[in-house]
Amino acid sequence: MKCSHRHSLSKDKKFAHPTCPDPALQYTSLGPQGFHVSARLDGYHPSLDGYHPVAIGLGANLGPRLQTLRGAARSLEELLRQPRFSTVYETQPMYETDQPSFLNACGVGWTDLGPAVLLDRLQQLERDAGRRPGGSRYGPRRLDLDIVLYADRVVESQDLTIPHPRLLERGFVLLPLSEIAGPWIHPVEGLSIEELAADVDLSGVEATNLHLD
Ligand code: ADP
Ligand code: MG
Repeated sequence: MKCSHRHSLSKDKKFAHPTCPDPALQYTSLGPQGFHVSARLDGYHPSLDGYHPVAIGLGANLGPRLQTLRGAARSLEELLRQPRFSTVYETQPMYETDQPSFLNACGVGWTDLGPAVLLDRLQQLERDAGRRPGGSRYGPRRLDLDIVLYADRVVESQDLTIPHPRLLERGFVLLPLSEIAGPWIHPVEGLSIEELAADVDLSGVEATNLHLD
């Protein structure tokens, strides 16, 4: 059974799309618990039944940018339960400014992978998209996939910092993320993504009418 929102309802009833337009599907697919899980994705973020809500930042400024982001979104749909994506933004590079502009977007969904394994998978997708290892930290790349938030966890290891360490200064992440997870509370700042987005410098971040789905 396929939901017209591209979410496969047959995978797991609990993760069915909360606003599937077909009332019959809604009724048979969403128990009270299923709806509860869905409703929580936008607001509070306890992990549930071994699944953890996660927010991923997507970016590309080399090669066929939109095609690459759409390809990554299809892969994330395989990796995450109940995935949803923001619209796409065209953004000026922030740190090394002498490089092509980026397309950026964000995705949210539920995962049963731990943060380190998830990062590993995302880096594999970056390599699959032709991202070369090495290169300067803020230099051009075909695909950048970052873990922005992982439930209400704070992680600080050598390879991984969650929430993403540069989230607060990045309008190109906060703005798309506020579209799909505005009330999500930053576990260190204690402020919602919406509030953080209202405070960040948005110069160089332009909305487009492009979508990833
Ligand atoms: P950025 O994504 O900040 O523009 P890079 O993609 O060049 O920079 O950084 C890649 C490195 O950042 C990876 O080697 C990874 O180990 C590290 N890293 C630390 N925290 C995160 C995170 N939350 N998500 C993705 N990568 C992270
Ligand atoms: Mg990155």
